[in-house]
Amino acid sequence: MQPNITDYLQPKSLPEAIALMATYSGRAALVGGGLDLSWRPRQEIQILIGLDRIPLSYIEWRPEGLVIGAGTTLRELADSNGGSYLNGLFGRILDRIATPLLRGMITVGGALARAYPWSDLLPIFLGCQAHITLFDGQDHTIPLESFYQGSFRQLLKRSIIRELCLPTHHQSIAAYQRFGRLQIDIPLLNQFSRLTLVEEQIEKASLWLGARPGFPVRLSEVEAVLLGKPLNQVTIGAAVSVLSPSLVGADFRLSKEYRHNLATVFLRRNLTEIWSQHATII
Ligand SMILES: Cc1cc2nc3c(=O)[nH]c(=O)nc-3n(C[C@H](O)[C@H](O)[C@H](O)COP(=O)(O)OP(=O)(O)OC[C@H]3O[C@@H](n4cnc5c(N)ncnc54)[C@H](O)[C@@H]3O)c2cc1C
Repeated sequence: MQPNITDYLQPKSLPEAIALMATYSGRAALVGGGLDLSWRPRQEIQILIGLDRIPLSYIEWRPEGLVIGAGTTLRELADSNGGSYLNGLFGRILDRIATPLLRGMITVGGALARAYPWSDLLPIFLGCQAHITLFDGQDHTIPLESFYQGSFRQLLKRSIIRELCLPTHHQSIAAYQRFGRLQIDIPLLNQFSRLTLVEEQIEKASLWLGARPGFPVRLSEVEAVLLGKPLNQVTIGAAVSVLSPSLVGADFRLSKEYRHNLATVFLRRNLTEIWSQHATII
C-alpha cells in the first residue's frame, strides 16, 4: 500500500462509484487493473475506488460489433473469442503486449483512460472506429476519436468508462507493426492499417501512426492517395511517398530520421501484407 492512500473503497455499482468520485473529488482515483497506479503513484490521491465489484468484465458479440467491458483484462480478451476480431489479428496483437502477467492486470478501461501516446491499443481502436460508452449518471456513447479530440481527462474526472465497441467491418483487412527495443518493451513506433476493398478498388482506408512519440495520428494524406485505386505495388509506392516526416519526432530513444524511415517501412509492410491477404481471399 502506498503511504498516502488512506482508503480502498469497493462500490458495487456505477452510480455508487460516481457518487464516491464526487465526494472525494480531486483526491480519489478509480482502479482498473491497478498496474499504472502502482507504477506511477500520484501524490494527490488518498482514496482508491476499486471497480472490481462492478460487473464490468465482459466480452460480447452484439449486432453492432465486439463489445468489451472496461474491466476486461487483455488476457481475458485474448483468451476469449474477442481475439478473433479482425480475422484473428487482434488476438495476435494482444499476445505481444507487455508480458503474460501484466496482460492479466491491464484492463481495457485503464488503457483507454491512461491513453499513453505509445499505447499498442489506441491506434487499433481508433483505426477500427471504436465507440466508447461513458457513465456519469447516464450512459453516453461517442466515437473514440471525438473522445480524444475533446478534453477527455476533464471528462474522466466526472465519468467512468463502461465499455468499448469495436464495429464489425466486413470485407476489411488489417495489419499492424510495432517496434520496441525488446519484444516485451513498449512500442517506440507503431502503425495500424485497415483497408476495405470492393471489386479490386480501395473503398475505405483507416491508417494510424502511434508512438511518434506523440498521440496516434491519422494518416489522412496517405489514405487520400489510396482511395479508389487498386491495391498494387504502384499504389503502395505512391502511398508511402506522401508519408510526411513532420508526423514523427525525436526522443531519447529514437531520432526523427530513424522514426520516419521506420514509419515508411511499417506502412509498406502493412499495405503489402493486406495486399497478399486480399490475394488469398479472392
Ligand atoms: C510495465 C508496464 C508495461 C506496459 N507495457 C505496455 C505495452 O506493451 N503496450 C501497451 O499498450 N501498454 C503497456 N502498458 C501500459 C498499460 O496499458 C497502462 O498502464 C494501463 O493504464 C494499465 O491498465 P490498468 O487497468 O492497470 O490501469 P489502472 O492503473 O487501474 O488505471 C490507470 C488510469 O485509468 C483510470 N481508470 C481505470 N479504469 C477506468 C475506468 N473504467 N473509467 C475511467 N477511468 C479508469 C485510473 O483511475 C487511472 O487514472 C504498460 C504498463 C506498464 C506498467
